[in-house]
Amino acid sequence: MKDSTLKKLREIVGSQSVLTAKEELLCHSYDATRRSALPEVVVRPENVEQVAAVARLCTEERIPLTPRGAGTGLSGGSVPLKGGVLLSLTRMKRIRELVLEDLYAVVEAGMVTEELQTTVEASSLFYPPDPASQSSCTIGGNVATSAGGLRCLKYGVTKNYLMGLEAVLPTGEVIATGARTVKSVVGFDLTRLICGSEGTLAIVTAATLKLIPLPEHRVTILAAFKELEQAARASADVISAGATPSILEIMDPVTVSVVSRESETVLPPESEGCSLLLAEADGFREAAEIEAERVQKVCSDSGAVFLRKSSETEERENLWQARRGVLAALAKLKPITILEDVTVPRSRVVEMIRSIEEIGKKYDLLVATFGHAGDGNLHPTILLDAPFTEKAARVEKAVAEIFGKALSLGGTLSGEHGIGIDKAGFLGEEIGEHALETMRRLKEVFDPEGILNPGKLFGGAESES
Ligand SMILES: Cc1cc2nc3c(=O)[nH]c(=O)nc-3n(C[C@H](O)[C@H](O)[C@H](O)COP(=O)(O)OP(=O)(O)OC[C@H]3O[C@@H](n4cnc5c(N)ncnc54)[C@H](O)[C@@H]3O)c2cc1C
Repeated sequence: MKDSTLKKLREIVGSQSVLTAKEELLCHSYDATRRSALPEVVVRPENVEQVAAVARLCTEERIPLTPRGAGTGLSGGSVPLKGGVLLSLTRMKRIRELVLEDLYAVVEAGMVTEELQTTVEASSLFYPPDPASQSSCTIGGNVATSAGGLRCLKYGVTKNYLMGLEAVLPTGEVIATGARTVKSVVGFDLTRLICGSEGTLAIVTAATLKLIPLPEHRVTILAAFKELEQAARASADVISAGATPSILEIMDPVTVSVVSRESETVLPPESEGCSLLLAEADGFREAAEIEAERVQKVCSDSGAVFLRKSSETEERENLWQARRGVLAALAKLKPITILEDVTVPRSRVVEMIRSIEEIGKKYDLLVATFGHAGDGNLHPTILLDAPFTEKAARVEKAVAEIFGKALSLGGTLSGEHGIGIDKAGFLGEEIGEHALETMRRLKEVFDPEGILNPGKLFGGAESES
């Protein structure tokens, strides 16, 4: 990068917020995939004016600009493929407004999701989107990926809580989208266009987020099944029975074993060798208890060999903590984890699970499957030793077959992690040529010089390291 550009960046954000040391660049070169590429400089703005000035400069000088939150993404989205400026939003982490009477909060992009949740819960309010990475991921990253989480079965994903955005266009203009009202149909819905655009259309600097009353009571249900397919069928049965648990998660025996290894007490000994469904019902006390009974009954009718129900806070929290730690626990079993995110209609979960098992066997790969069964969102995770060069071709074929199967079942390539680099080559297969071309044209309108997060969504990853 030219010295003159670095000088201008220092003038915009201050010298201490322009990082060029090799170790700083390395720390911002990766996300939670195995992708990485070094930026030329890391810039850490503290307000929207600085973000706008950096964006304007990058467009003027045609410098690649990659927005980054906490770097917990699972599709390579914040990896600065083409070098240039890595824009870290983590210094912008204030709650600008918490409006209790109108049930919303205006939050800066770099705020950690769990901090927002904890803050609003002190006022008996609830911000439901809860990606398993919530203790480190940011609201900006959540908006850019429309992050889901365990509770989205009942409560929906990030886009369902977005009332509006403050965002910076790659050309430097600041736009305000949406409204602070419950309803608004004024103009195109730019809020939802930017949400899920994976940092390719605009840089989110703040979000107006809907809050709801905190549920009064929560009950957790654990059901163990001898076969994974039985657990999958039970999850579909829970949904078709009209039950509305807030969470309905599945774990196969490999996942159960790593979770048990992490903490010997969190899962009952009866779980060993079994597949699990973990559910939670919430709401008013009586309603949550009735819902939990319904889920238990369906699981029992579907062949559960062990059932446990708990409304004890510590036990519940330990269980969900363990569930949120699954990926880290799997990574202790094998150093390379290739985690996928296919989602199918709930009635097809059994078929999808069966196919994942068959594909794993066909290519002789160890695959652990867990995920949000109630949403039809599965995370088959291929576990490998490093290096896996000899298995690379088989992994590629297995992943392509998993994607193909999900699409053939009426599903989608990604329920929550996004396209990023990893699935860019498959996007057209799902949405079709004309939709892809429409997206390309929209990208040109927002980003005429193509500087914002190049190489993502639409591909073009040739400079990846
Ligand atoms: C252990 C683990 C569990 C996870 N569980 C879940 C889960 O349950 N549900 C789920 O949905 N995801 C999950 N994820 C994936 C990830 O945490 C989410 O995608 C999260 O929303 C990313 O947030 P981040 O701040 O880390 O964003 P980053 O990884 O930094 O960036 C993600 C994408 O958003 C863009 N971006 C970031 N900030 C901005 C901004 N301010 N403006 C514009 N674009 C921006 C980046 O360019 C990139 O494309 C998990 C990840 C891990 C490691």
